[in-house]
Amino acid sequence: MKKIIFLSILASLITSACSMNKPEKNNEDTYHLEAINDPHSYANINEVRTVHLHLDLDVNFDNKTIYGVARHEISQHEVDYIIFDIKGLEILKTSTGKDKEQLTDYVIGKNQELLGQSLRVAINENTKFVNIYYQTTKKSEALDWLSPELTSGKNHPFLYTQGQAILTRSWIPLQDSPMNRISYSADVMVPKELIALMSASNPLEKNDSGQYHFEMKQKIPSYLIALAVGDMTYIPLGDNCGVYAEKELESACEYEFHDLPKMIKAASSLYGDYKWEQYDIVMLPFSFPFGGMENPRLTFANPTLLTGDRSSTSVIAHELAHSWSGNLVTNSTWDDFWLNEGFTVYFENRIMEELYGKSEADILATIEYQDLVVALEEIENSEHPEDTQLKLQLKDRSPDEGMTDIAYVKGAFFLRTLEKAVSREKLDEFLKAYFNDHSFQSITTEVFVNDLNTKLLEPKSIEFNTEEWIYKQGMPENHVKIESKRLKSMISIAIDANGGMDVTENQLKSKNRNDFTTQEWLAFIRSIKANASHELLSSLDEQFLFSSEANALVKSDWFKLCAKSKYRSVQPEMEAYLIKIGRRWFVEGIYQLLMDSDDAQDHEFALSTFNKAKDGYHFVTRSTVAEIVN
Ligand SMILES: [Zn+2]
Repeated sequence: MKKIIFLSILASLITSACSMNKPEKNNEDTYHLEAINDPHSYANINEVRTVHLHLDLDVNFDNKTIYGVARHEISQHEVDYIIFDIKGLEILKTSTGKDKEQLTDYVIGKNQELLGQSLRVAINENTKFVNIYYQTTKKSEALDWLSPELTSGKNHPFLYTQGQAILTRSWIPLQDSPMNRISYSADVMVPKELIALMSASNPLEKNDSGQYHFEMKQKIPSYLIALAVGDMTYIPLGDNCGVYAEKELESACEYEFHDLPKMIKAASSLYGDYKWEQYDIVMLPFSFPFGGMENPRLTFANPTLLTGDRSSTSVIAHELAHSWSGNLVTNSTWDDFWLNEGFTVYFENRIMEELYGKSEADILATIEYQDLVVALEEIENSEHPEDTQLKLQLKDRSPDEGMTDIAYVKGAFFLRTLEKAVSREKLDEFLKAYFNDHSFQSITTEVFVNDLNTKLLEPKSIEFNTEEWIYKQGMPENHVKIESKRLKSMISIAIDANGGMDVTENQLKSKNRNDFTTQEWLAFIRSIKANASHELLSSLDEQFLFSSEANALVKSDWFKLCAKSKYRSVQPEMEAYLIKIGRRWFVEGIYQLLMDSDDAQDHEFALSTFNKAKDGYHFVTRSTVAEIVN
């Protein structure tokens, strides 16, 4: 309760600084807009807001520019201006009206590095449509324009957008806050040899005109508007699901995502019907900064998921789970991000358990817990130890700083611990109702806590330390402990290796890499102590070919171990890996460990590798790594 008031006062100070007049409260479906404001948006959504957005876009690969018109249908209002967010956009003109447009005045605010600029457009009380004519620039951070060499086919360029958290404003002028939900439609023109796809109804094949029409009828937050353009075809995987990919990746996608229809069925039976009709995946190039991004109807996926052994399919279970947690019920501000991710990691694990059994699910949760322990320690020793709380305070900071294992894994352990306290049956019943009651809403942590207290804990007279979990730092003592026998045995081999035993001549004798799963290798590699002997690392690499042949996830942990141990023989492979892979989570830890080294030659290697790699990274990864190496 305190936090709501705190944010509200701050935000009202900000908006009142540029207020022209004080309107009466707009009572049109503003259930979630009344109490708080979003510290990461300039938009005056409490006064007037977009209800539907239509985009006319012309995607030009020659000069890497999108020429666009953003046509906003706006709510009833009593103000004489509407404020949008923009960042790195060139605004050409603004107008009002639908069929007959009239030019209207606009003012662009001062640029802030984090938030960009406000765009204030003059309207009157009868204005229903505001049109913004614009073009993107080199500073449009959401856009990743890839030259053909960075694709699998190497013949055609590729473009994709990444909106989360506050980058949509860098390719569309709009009210860029997850608090506001809008429907959208689009007409997009692309070169004839490419297909355009959006987080909306999608074409099944290329057409000769290069022109595509899209509709997203459900109301979504702005960070979920997404576009991908490339040389791709569609492979159906079930009645309402499939994958778009370059033809070089088709068969790998088909193999890896084979269980997608079963996953959709399992997820729907857990928490209610799938509300988005179609669920497709688009396979992007390696520069994509995330494993997956849950854009509705069209998950964006990273080719590092194509491991060949289905060991990363939990990422797809994760993105699918977002169709409920995140896309159906959305964090109101980025301080509430754990409502998106903690619920999703919990839900993802339940889908995996449903499909592959409890021991598989426990293996994944154990690995995640290992990540969490590292993250907790790092954050506790950082300048923001309060970031180990689930509810964050990210005002004046980038929302990306909240995208840590706290939101994801501590959030999931909160729900697992709650499950143990109230029983799985009761928690499932509560969650199903929660997703149903708040469908297509953006809510705060406090709305969730209130629901939890009044609909689950109080009626059943159950005591639970919710406040400690959400508003206190660190991991509460009562968190559930998950163990996996298979991982335990790998960890014990690592402990023997740490004690000086030549494990390649003992427990691992005559084994090869495929005798163990990806997760078993992660548990093993992570348990080898830093500064491991170079003899050990060299004999492991010789036997298991981690540096050259392992999948991208195993390589990431392997190269971290090599960096920690100053094992520099693998530098050529490490460099090639860092240049090829743009997935932030896979590369940032390696750069960090190289920079943590007390030896300047590791810093030089990190910096020179980054200089070779950075043009192939999306802004999200580039800016994170730049901060590490500089
Ligand atoms: Zn997620």
